[in-house]
Amino acid sequence: MRIGVFVCQCGTNIASTVDTERVAEAARRLPDVVYSTTYVYTCSEPGQQEIQRAIEAYNLQGVVVAACSPRMHEPTFRRAVEKAGLNRYMFEMANIREHVSWISNDREANTKKAIELVRMAVAKLRFNQPLFPSRVAINKRVMIIGGGVAGIQAALDCADAGLQVVLVERKASIGGKMAQLDKTFPTIDCSSCILGPKMVDVAQKENITLYAYSEIESVSGYVGNFTVKIRKKATYVDWTACTGCGVCMEKCPSRKVLDEFNEELSFTRAISIPFPQAIPKKATINPKYCLHFTKGKCGICSKVCPAKAIRYDMTDEVVTEEVGAIIVATGYDLFDPSAYGEYGAGQYRDVITGIQYERILSASGPFGGHIKRPSDGKEPKDVVFIACVGSRDASVGRPYCSGVCCMYIAKQAILTKDHIPDSRCYVFYMDIRAPGKNYDEFVRRAQEEYGVQYIRGRVGKIYPKGDRLVVQGMDTLLGVQIEVEADLVVLATGIEASKGARELAEKLHISYDQYGFFMENHPKLRPVETNTAGIYLAGACQGPKDIPASVAQGSAAASKVLALFARDTIETSPQVASVNERACIACGKCIEVCPYGAIRWKELKGGIKKAEVLATVCQGCGLCNATCPPKAIQLQHATDNQILAEIEELCA
Ligand SMILES: Cc1cc2nc3c(=O)[nH]c(=O)nc-3n(C[C@H](O)[C@H](O)[C@H](O)COP(=O)(O)OP(=O)(O)OC[C@H]3O[C@@H](n4cnc5c(N)ncnc54)[C@H](O)[C@@H]3O)c2cc1C
Ligand code: SF4
Ligand code: SF4
Repeated sequence: MRIGVFVCQCGTNIASTVDTERVAEAARRLPDVVYSTTYVYTCSEPGQQEIQRAIEAYNLQGVVVAACSPRMHEPTFRRAVEKAGLNRYMFEMANIREHVSWISNDREANTKKAIELVRMAVAKLRFNQPLFPSRVAINKRVMIIGGGVAGIQAALDCADAGLQVVLVERKASIGGKMAQLDKTFPTIDCSSCILGPKMVDVAQKENITLYAYSEIESVSGYVGNFTVKIRKKATYVDWTACTGCGVCMEKCPSRKVLDEFNEELSFTRAISIPFPQAIPKKATINPKYCLHFTKGKCGICSKVCPAKAIRYDMTDEVVTEEVGAIIVATGYDLFDPSAYGEYGAGQYRDVITGIQYERILSASGPFGGHIKRPSDGKEPKDVVFIACVGSRDASVGRPYCSGVCCMYIAKQAILTKDHIPDSRCYVFYMDIRAPGKNYDEFVRRAQEEYGVQYIRGRVGKIYPKGDRLVVQGMDTLLGVQIEVEADLVVLATGIEASKGARELAEKLHISYDQYGFFMENHPKLRPVETNTAGIYLAGACQGPKDIPASVAQGSAAASKVLALFARDTIETSPQVASVNERACIACGKCIEVCPYGAIRWKELKGGIKKAEVLATVCQGCGLCNATCPPKAIQLQHATDNQILAEIEELCA
């Protein structure tokens, strides 16, 4: 084989701590290497042209580029060699930036390591074979999981572009957390006034199929061709008949059901419609509280329902949808503040969370939009807000910033002053994070125009005094202990991954971080793609996010799907496992370990079983390859020969 080696300097990124000339010089002495050089920016247009020129001039049959991570530029260089007539798999990359120059300043050690990595890449390349992708047709339907503002935006953008959209929401209505908010920062516009029309749009678009009160059961397949099983949970009401008139709710005698939408500040009935603007506006029976289920009697809703929609015998139903791409937009949940015993959440009724305060502020909330204390319904005059409850605190396992709390506290303080002009608002904070457009100005308005008092420091204790609460903390700017008497305390509880996020990630074969937020493919360059082709992310499921960022990501994910669907067929990677049937002993270990379900039994003549890889499902993870006892499975482009050649070179 005739091999060319190109050692990139990456400006000074590599050249400042690696002697690239020496690496190129060492490469020149390797077997089969007929050309070796350095280049200042190999990924640049002239850098790629240099590779193409050398392929022609030296009749190269394989190319090694020693540069940055293959995650960054492997596709770039593969395209470059292909343009010059080489098969794109006759190319190898040695990462001498992230794995060498960026992790040590020891020039001598770095240069030696870079030489070793180049030797390994050349050794592997000598065993490379041309590989050819195959093409499969794309099913141009998209599934969106999660109907918060991010999922709604993605669904509408895809539907507007003419795609068939399947939207799966686990609650009885779409809308997510935004549907629970009163007004939104930094413009103080009414949340349901801006979200409501989008929700109605979802209901009215003929090309959107909405599965509310439903969850994902299983996902199989691959980019362009996913098969998703959806569990439609029993609502005990036939939604095709229910008109949302609410008569059942009115008459239901089981009235002590804590209202989830109102964050348990009020009661609803055993049969309920989640909120007046719900989409779909349909009733659902909660069997935990329904007297028909708990006591075997009642049946009032069935008698009064004018549409005869009640179905006590309804069971869950599993339906199957075939789609070509999936957008995950499952949002977030909120930190449970009872972890901070000193704040008395759950103990004192007038210590509430930020989302509960949103419901109190809302005209459709438990008190009709009048600010009242949960304990006695009195109007509070002194309201204390505490920031970072379950954010930026490693002691409760939440070292990250929740991103929205500083802003929503400022909003809620402004709204408190608007509702009760003679009220006094205090904010205990660590430091203020308001980096969005017009955000810092908004916080300043709260401080300067509305006179909200900001106290820099942590709260140590909250205790009752008569019918009020004393908030004891430290003013770290003045260096003094401080006590504020309050009628109401609002805890800005932090954002955490949505419940069940990890389980969903396993079903989708996507990664998640240590906190359960889904991982993007690249934090800067591929922020809405996952590591599984055809599956995208939108909104707070990827990390704390406000509404503008969630909407932007919803649209970004939709545009990725549209770009994917702009083609009729898709290339599948040939870097997949393949079985040598003669060597296979049919032990089934590969079938057990494959996380993608890409291996099945194939029956040969005489009833003999052998493992068979479904090339379109295989993701090339290599688990089967490493597990197979007789080494009957090989992963194309990472065969045992190739890996052993690299190891031998390293040990030589
Ligand atoms: C108190 C408070 C006040 C706020 N105020 C503002 C504000 O004024 N301005 C602002 O910009 N931002 C504000 N935010 C932030 C805002 O709530 C989020 O930016 C926004 O809700 C994120 O939207 P999302 O669609 O990503 O997630 P979500 O709103 O959480 O929606 C996710 C949806 O997915 C569904 N879901 C979850 N898991 C599954 C599953 N497995 N299968 C199917 N469906 C699933 C959920 O039921 C939900 O409907 C506030 C947040 C809080 C806590
Ligand atoms: S009474 Fe019947 S139609 Fe009306 S909301 Fe209840 S279930 Fe639906
Ligand atoms: S049957 Fe259940 S849901 Fe219907 S009215 Fe009675 S308690 Fe309410």
